[in-house]
Amino acid sequence: MAVPKKKTSVSRKGLRRAGQHHKLYRNHPIGCPNCGQMTLPHHVCAACGQYKGKEVIKFKDDKEDGQEQESV
Ligand SMILES: [Zn+2]
Repeated sequence: MAVPKKKTSVSRKGLRRAGQHHKLYRNHPIGCPNCGQMTLPHHVCAACGQYKGKEVIKFKDDKEDGQEQESV
């Protein structure tokens, strides 16, 4: 039977488990708190251009009225 040469340390075990967690939840879409559009975490929302409650990207309105937004 193959036996590990060294004891797996607590930190190494934690790193391994965190890696599996990151693998599970990377590209895990979340709803934008501003508009509800599904976006990736740590990314600017593509629909409203907000990140962490602040408007990062300003979208030019093709329609001049600006108030009207199509909801999906
Ligand atoms: Zn949004």
